[in-house]
Amino acid sequence: MSESLVDNLLDNVRIVLVNTSDCRNIGSAARAMKTMGLSQLILVDPIEMPNGQAQALAAGATDVLANAKVVSTLEEAISECGLVVGTSARSRTLPWPMLEPRGCGVKLIEEAHNFPVALVFGRESSGLTNDELQLCHFHVQIPANPEYSSLNLAMAVQTLSYEVRTSFLLQQDAQHQKSTDDEEYPIVEESERFYQHFEKALKGTGFIVPSHPGLVMTKLRRLFNRARPDVKELKMMRGILASVDRANAKNADSQTEKSADKNK
Ligand code: SAH
Repeated sequence: MSESLVDNLLDNVRIVLVNTSDCRNIGSAARAMKTMGLSQLILVDPIEMPNGQAQALAAGATDVLANAKVVSTLEEAISECGLVVGTSARSRTLPWPMLEPRGCGVKLIEEAHNFPVALVFGRESSGLTNDELQLCHFHVQIPANPEYSSLNLAMAVQTLSYEVRTSFLLQQDAQHQKSTDDEEYPIVEESERFYQHFEKALKGTGFIVPSHPGLVMTKLRRLFNRARPDVKELKMMRGILASVDRANAKNADSQTEKSADKNK
């Protein structure tokens, strides 16, 4: 996957903070996001707008803070999103489709290919309201200590952003693996023809002396085995060897002409 496609995918994951009362949490959330490659922060009706304290906690992520979009309702924040996941520290009375954090990361990355997706976080004091939770397709709960399950807002952002990143990296690896698997490798017969051609060409140049071939071919085999040329690369090598053959033939012709001239 190209770097730009990669960036776009994470740019499609939006972090929405609803009605945050302490802007230092907004700064820390921005930092948490940036460490995980996320940049799209939306603030719904923040009680305290990000100030110097928020910037201090954002540290190297002041750009995320500066680019944060401020809107007045959750509906507005998620209107363009095709998938919305609400976060909650506790089970609500109304059962809703649930995701666990890992599955949440996977789903967000899968769907970020198609449209913007959102992870919605609630107020420090009371979380998200039932109405807000009902605007979400799924809910996710970090399986924290049942005796004390409420994480600091920015730490919840960090934990779930990490899951988004993990899923993103896994997908990248899988794609890389796939593109590597797509390479076509030569069959043994083709490789053998290449080695025979190589040996003949090196005898032509005089690099291999037929009476004392030594270990040259064994060492070359080991080198090419390690590099594992694919079909296209092997074809290029055959082309190079053909050009060596032509140069050898030219050399041989001029040698014959010279000795014929001498014998005149
Ligand atoms: N007292 C609130 C918790 C607020 S914590 C309550 O009981 O709902 C602030 C926000 O951090 C939450 O709204 C949620 O978005 C997130 N959060 C904290 N702990 C979480 C957890 N265990 N799972 C998922 N989100 C969590």
